[in-house]
Amino acid sequence: MQDQARIIDGKAAAAALRAEIGLEIAAIKSAGGSVPGLHVVLVGDDPASRVYVASKERLAAEIGMNSVAHRLPAETSEAELLAKIEALNADDSVDGILVQLPLPKHINSGAIIDAIDPAKDVDGLHPINAGRLAGGKEGLVPCTPLGCMLLLRQVLPTLAGLEAVVIGRSELVGRPVAQLLLQADCTVTIAHSRTRDLASVVRRADIVVAAVGRPHFVRADWIKPGATVIDVGINRLPDGKLTGDVDFAQALNVAGAITPVPGGVGPMTIACLLRNTLTAFRARRG
Ligand code: NAP
Repeated sequence: MQDQARIIDGKAAAAALRAEIGLEIAAIKSAGGSVPGLHVVLVGDDPASRVYVASKERLAAEIGMNSVAHRLPAETSEAELLAKIEALNADDSVDGILVQLPLPKHINSGAIIDAIDPAKDVDGLHPINAGRLAGGKEGLVPCTPLGCMLLLRQVLPTLAGLEAVVIGRSELVGRPVAQLLLQADCTVTIAHSRTRDLASVVRRADIVVAAVGRPHFVRADWIKPGATVIDVGINRLPDGKLTGDVDFAQALNVAGAITPVPGGVGPMTIACLLRNTLTAFRARRG
């Protein structure tokens, strides 16, 4: 019988990344420089979004960033939000702008994302940054995909030549993570709801990234023995517990390494937001 899979500890990896960024900010401060500024904009009072924004604000402040949350009422119009973005774009002390999604239905999210200065787009969703990623050029990369890659590199120092299957093709996760895997010289397949015989597609993968949003969707008998599994899914079960897209308990007996949910990719997302803010700061201010 094979040993149980190594569990990739995203909480520890995220804490280490935040500590590393904190040290860099301390060094900038002690050299007399101004610190990176992260501005998060929240419209309305969606409870989950409020929790996310509060965590981003707290973790950014903890590592010495200038962390500001702009909480706007649910009735804010698209024009008012655009004016807010314009003001943040023009403010030189602002290095990163993140608009918490989803926005209220009366606001066109695409128009808001397009209005963010690409140099301050720390969520990596602006079409210019998405285009840079697709073209294999440097730019700001979406936080969750970046987190997936950092976790993968903890267990697989060399990715070149490996077969990677990404399940999901969203702009937020599936597509960008596939681009990053391609940049790392993996042979990449993107699967989606129209993929035929998904089980056999997944079975050939050395790396499986699941970003579907369905609890326990990826079964253990789809996984090639020894494969590395990155579970991006966050699903709430009827009993209130969180679970991923992969049947974790069974997959432990087949995979070589696997991320848990919670405690895997999730914590890396905010840590990568902070990293992107530092990257944006360095690119803008030298
Ligand atoms: P999404 O926009 O709903 O995309 C889901 C993808 O899954 C789509 O591309 C869809 O295919 C595909 N899919 C759905 N049913 C399928 C099936 N039966 N077989 C194969 N593919 C199927 O979701 P998302 O924003 O990418 O998020 C995915 C999951 O990750 C969610 O659980 C979300 O909560 C989680 N998430 C976690 C983090 C984090 O920080 N850990 C961040 C973002 C998202 P089609 O395109 O064909 O419809």
